[in-house]
Amino acid sequence: MQENDLVVDVVIIGGGALGAATALRAQTQGLRVCVLEQGQVGEQTSANSSKLIHGGLRYLESLQFGLVKECLRARKRFIADYPQLVTMNKFYIPVYKYSKRPAWLVKIGLYLYQWLANDSHYGGFKTLNEQQWSEIGAINQQQLVSVFQYWDAQTDDKQLTQQLLNDAVAKGTKLFTQTRFDGLTEAVEGESLVKVVAVDCQTKTRQHIRCSYVVNCSGPWVNQVLSKINEPSVSVEFVQGSHLQLDCQISDGIVYLESVLDNRVLFIIPWKGQTLLGTTEISLGDNYHNHAITVAEQNYLIDNLLHYYPQLGSRQEILKRITRTYSGVRVLPKIDAQSVFSRSRDTLMVRATAYPNFISVFGGKLTTVLIEAEKLVAMINQQN
Ligand SMILES: Cc1cc2nc3c(=O)[nH]c(=O)nc-3n(C[C@H](O)[C@H](O)[C@H](O)COP(=O)(O)OP(=O)(O)OC[C@H]3O[C@@H](n4cnc5c(N)ncnc54)[C@H](O)[C@@H]3O)c2cc1C
Repeated sequence: MQENDLVVDVVIIGGGALGAATALRAQTQGLRVCVLEQGQVGEQTSANSSKLIHGGLRYLESLQFGLVKECLRARKRFIADYPQLVTMNKFYIPVYKYSKRPAWLVKIGLYLYQWLANDSHYGGFKTLNEQQWSEIGAINQQQLVSVFQYWDAQTDDKQLTQQLLNDAVAKGTKLFTQTRFDGLTEAVEGESLVKVVAVDCQTKTRQHIRCSYVVNCSGPWVNQVLSKINEPSVSVEFVQGSHLQLDCQISDGIVYLESVLDNRVLFIIPWKGQTLLGTTEISLGDNYHNHAITVAEQNYLIDNLLHYYPQLGSRQEILKRITRTYSGVRVLPKIDAQSVFSRSRDTLMVRATAYPNFISVFGGKLTTVLIEAEKLVAMINQQN
């Protein structure tokens, strides 16, 4: 990049799933787009999720019907647009005598989910008979009363992000990796045209890009990016979630488990011949910092796994089976005072006070990035 050699309509900060989807949407709508990614595409939060494209059955508990409906619509879009990368899989819910959510409640939830999905192909669910319980591997059958099976989708989050951005680049989006957004220059408060300062992370050279809109899709760095334009932070809570990857495949489908240690839910996810187990939720407060799985998180996941799959042996034996661990950080806008587990995962889009064409996104889900991208581009078009 040479100084002033690039003029675009929109600069997108962040090459995660949201930045990639927004670039694709904006480019498809005829806008000239440039994406700045300080590292490589899709290597942060969007590589460290549970890799589910799902309606979020558990959000029904907190009566977030609108969110579930939107997620199910988003799932349909992804399956139609990226059938190789987003595929439906069987999900199983085992219910025990001691489960906090009894079978009748799970059934009501699944009926609601089916109704909200409005999908004749994959909307339904069934109750397995006892002979079919082995579909979820060697699960503990003591006090097991029911196993439900329904459908939701799975993806490779990093690959999906890269594919979205590849599609945008194929349509004309300029992508600069290892390039950090570092502020605005010659920006006049209230004016729409701004110059973005982009710094090459290797050579440290500063380049300028002229544009009319900036979309801040920097995930957990969202407030740090805002500080570069002297905007106040938005109040958020950062929540770490970690997964273990084990060297064996425990179940053919995805098993949705109630944690026996608290009120949360966990997934056992078949993954490339192995198993992912997650996730945890640990509040990092209002300060994003480097993150890695803690011993407490590891023990939490293993103890739950051993409760449901005692044949896997002991904590020590599970520790030996771990091939990888990973952690990601969610951004939860502080829009209410509920506990982390039940708080809304709705996305917040905020215009900067000094630069209304600088839009920052807080929160969200991988599942809904295509829909969030539509909203962001609609916000841009509104200003035109
Ligand atoms: C543990 C966990 C499990 C999850 N599971 C699911 C799930 O199963 N299904 C689901 O739908 N959602 C899930 N989510 C949510 C989902 O992963 C996120 O909503 C999504 O990946 C966020 O994407 P993003 O693009 O906003 O952020 P990111 O992927 O973090 O991308 C932001 C990018 O911005 C870049 N960046 C930051 N600052 C700058 C700068 N100054 N200049 C240039 N680039 C910058 C970063 O390098 C990064 O690549 C999960 C989240 C977590 C944490």
